[in-house]
Amino acid sequence: MKILLIICDGMGDRLIDGKTPLEAARKPNMDFIAKNGITGIMDSVGPGVRPGSDTAHLSLFGYNPFDFYTGRGPFEALGAGLSLRKGDVALRCNFATLQNGKVIDRRAGRDEFGLEELANELDGMEISGTEIIFKKCSGHRAVLILRGENLSANVSDTDPEIKNAKPLISKPLDRNPDSTKTAEIINKFTQKSIEILGDHPINKERTKMGKLPANIILVRGAGIQTHLPPFNHRYKIKGACISATTLIRGVCRAIGMDIIGVEGATGHVDSNIGGKANAAINALKSYDFVFLHIKGTDEASHDGNFDLKKAMIERIDGEVIKPILENRKDVTIVLTSDHSTPISIRQHSADPVPIAILGDVRTDSVERFTERECAMGGLNRICGIHLMGILLDLTNRAELFGA
Ligand code: ZN
Ligand code: ZN
Repeated sequence: MKILLIICDGMGDRLIDGKTPLEAARKPNMDFIAKNGITGIMDSVGPGVRPGSDTAHLSLFGYNPFDFYTGRGPFEALGAGLSLRKGDVALRCNFATLQNGKVIDRRAGRDEFGLEELANELDGMEISGTEIIFKKCSGHRAVLILRGENLSANVSDTDPEIKNAKPLISKPLDRNPDSTKTAEIINKFTQKSIEILGDHPINKERTKMGKLPANIILVRGAGIQTHLPPFNHRYKIKGACISATTLIRGVCRAIGMDIIGVEGATGHVDSNIGGKANAAINALKSYDFVFLHIKGTDEASHDGNFDLKKAMIERIDGEVIKPILENRKDVTIVLTSDHSTPISIRQHSADPVPIAILGDVRTDSVERFTERECAMGGLNRICGIHLMGILLDLTNRAELFGA
């Protein structure tokens, strides 16, 4: 019995006009899993903990993020295909738009035009004897690696996280001189990004085309890579990841899963999710555990677009869940989300997510895959850190505890 874990990012929600997007959507295939499987709700990290996508996924794979998480940067770097050396500090970056000293768009209009070329301008610099490695990732995102002596990840972000605010000054978060030095390097890097990108021909072209210039780099989530025990040793199963999101690929790479690429998979609402479903069906022939991640639901949520989220759920139902059910053979299918991203607040919340498992399970009376119906299911309310144990048991892989 193989395991297919399908995570629709940020799919859980709260009510808008009496309904969540999952309740408003027409999704017969997701409902089939709920009706014929066992359902419940899940706190991916813990009750009341608002998870990031990285900490949520670590927890769902059975790695307690309170033990293993040191910041988002290293996962972004790994997901972008970079290798980290001991002592490297990795940070997650956004190309953003600065106007009159304020950040008017944290994502430079989510427009990728010319960003690769701009990234090359910043890559390979040296600041105070520290090597700067800078690489563009998916969309408006990028990763910054500081490589040198005596660096620290205990520094604050420059990303103000809100619109129309000044970029922040990075500060040391402890009294260690390495943290002071690292914060200074980050601030110099920010200044360099403004100088180099501001006058760059790419940005003149972007402006001419009516696009926002990408004229500052904002950083956050500094971290140093830690060792994570490999997934296949831990569970004695071979795992593969299908995700277009750099951060999630990075989490999977950090635990030693194989990464399967899919053409046209973008991590946006227009992604080739049908291609990803096919890749998952194929991967199940050679892997015991396949993890399929779909990001569009979270993107629509951050944009506060109820109709887009509902439409994305319906697309997933028809283009992903349907073919997977049609090709189902000796596989336990898990459908869930990594956290809720309510349309009303446009950010992650701690509201538990619905979960449904189709396989050799004790079915319950729940008939639809929604937050409120699954709350009445046979799994009750579980914690994400226990999910792998439950799946190993349902596929008869769990070791006996005791005699
Ligand atoms: Zn997420
Ligand atoms: Zn999100």
